[in-house]
Amino acid sequence: MLGLIQDRPLLISSLIEYAGTYHGDVEIVSRTVEGPIHRTNYRNVNSRAKKLAQALGKLGVELGDRIGTLAWNGYRHVEIYFGVSGMGAVCHTINPRLFPEQIAYIANHAEDKYIFVDLTFVPLIEALAKELPNVKGFVVMTDEAHMPESSLDNLICYETLVEAEDGDYEWPVFDENTASSLCYTSGTTGNPKGVLYSNRSTVLHSFCVCTNDGLGVCNRDSILPVVPMFHANAWGIPYAAAMSGAKMVMPGAAMDGASIYELMEAEGVTLSAGVPTVWLMLLGHVKENNLKFSSMNRTVIGGSAAPRSMIETFVNDYGVNVVHAWGMTEMSPLGTTGNLLKKHDDLPEDEKIDIRLKQGRAVFGVDLKIADDDGNELPRDGVAFGRLMVRGPWITSGYFRGEGGDVIDDEMWFDTGDVATLDPDGYMQITDRSKDVIKSGGEWISSIDVENEAIGCPGVVEAAVIAVPHPKWDERPLVIAVKEEDHPVTREEVIAHLESTLAKWQLPDDVVFVDELPHTATGKLLKTKLREEYKDYKLPTA
Ligand code: ADP
Repeated sequence: MLGLIQDRPLLISSLIEYAGTYHGDVEIVSRTVEGPIHRTNYRNVNSRAKKLAQALGKLGVELGDRIGTLAWNGYRHVEIYFGVSGMGAVCHTINPRLFPEQIAYIANHAEDKYIFVDLTFVPLIEALAKELPNVKGFVVMTDEAHMPESSLDNLICYETLVEAEDGDYEWPVFDENTASSLCYTSGTTGNPKGVLYSNRSTVLHSFCVCTNDGLGVCNRDSILPVVPMFHANAWGIPYAAAMSGAKMVMPGAAMDGASIYELMEAEGVTLSAGVPTVWLMLLGHVKENNLKFSSMNRTVIGGSAAPRSMIETFVNDYGVNVVHAWGMTEMSPLGTTGNLLKKHDDLPEDEKIDIRLKQGRAVFGVDLKIADDDGNELPRDGVAFGRLMVRGPWITSGYFRGEGGDVIDDEMWFDTGDVATLDPDGYMQITDRSKDVIKSGGEWISSIDVENEAIGCPGVVEAAVIAVPHPKWDERPLVIAVKEEDHPVTREEVIAHLESTLAKWQLPDDVVFVDELPHTATGKLLKTKLREEYKDYKLPTA
């Protein structure tokens, strides 16, 4: 017997309609690419998103069409999020930090009909336009006064396009499983692959972000997402902020510590979210200038593991709670959050930090398990580590246009490519990415563990640890490190440093120094490139 409850579809348009109606005067503050700080509110964003939907309809955009964006975090990008998905089209955020040829590949693979660009990226599309034959026009996210001189004849001015409409528009109602947005993973191997979200998955994910043990987003918050809107939908924050009527503070292109800090203080920011590299810059600025955070009470750190010293500084020195979170583009992206439990209240501070260092517990909606290479589930004892598998209503069931083939098994488990432990309380800890693990004589060595210890050696600024083929042990670890400027640190000193914390069989067989390490477009170490470069490296032990 079915329940007798209305089967109203979960649509992204309902988020902005709600915010416009019930939190109409709550602000969205943006540092614009043009320069000044801009202020709008949910009432205006809802109205302008509707105007944009009207305008796109006149341009011939239909249900399911893909609309690209190359843009920073700002109010026009928020209007595009809601206007495009709200009308039933697909908002395809493109990471502008990718190589131009990857951007062209992605826009063509997605078959973007129009691409919206911030002023910053006009030169980029001028260079790429001839490789994008299917794109009908490029909408420059500015007003007439700032429209650039350009060699392209199909540039459209955003303000002119939007303000030509009257906003007399009702959001259409359609199937909640209709695709809403598309985001390609940065593709450390092969071509980038598209993750296609739906209206339903996005709304359900937003409920989760708003729960207290999710990210706890509510209308008392002023949120500054440093994580870009082109990186897994800024971790779902724009949608969750609309759902709860939270103020949003958008940093635009200015991502340095000083600019972010200034906005945080000026706009009473209570919550922010970003990757560890960003917080390193922010904390550096705050420390150097002897500042403190007057309103921020919590920050979400994810994308890479948050280092212990960073968590300690936020919590102990600045009284800012750290929510260590894990997820991935394929998961919308939220999977786990590292909140402490009631029973941890009386633990000594450094034991609390030990718990926060783990990536956290599954949020409601995400099933987690760890499995061995044959798919057998491993115990949740905090020691056994294996492939981390996930399933749930905001996790991908396959990449756009079938790339990568079947990615879920018969029971819908998706292999995250991460290797992790799960403890009896459900806290998950990433030990490595499965392709980065070093398989030495039947044992697994976590490249991340060795890297973290190597970075602790005085004189080492950054380190990558990769597997190098070995005749006896299959693979052995090699440390590739960047020295502090003019520091005389040696190979022997790095190994001696590691001997104090690592078991003998985990010690690297060699250490080499380089000027610079390669990174992906999302700022992570590009180990595929290193493995390629060092595949014939002769270890002294070989
Ligand atoms: P990409 O795959 O393009 O780097 P994603 O943002 O989807 O982009 O990356 C997801 C991956 O990032 C995860 O599979 C995991 O390896 C890593 N990751 C995310 N959050 C954390 C975290 N808190 N600690 C360690 N690794 C993390």
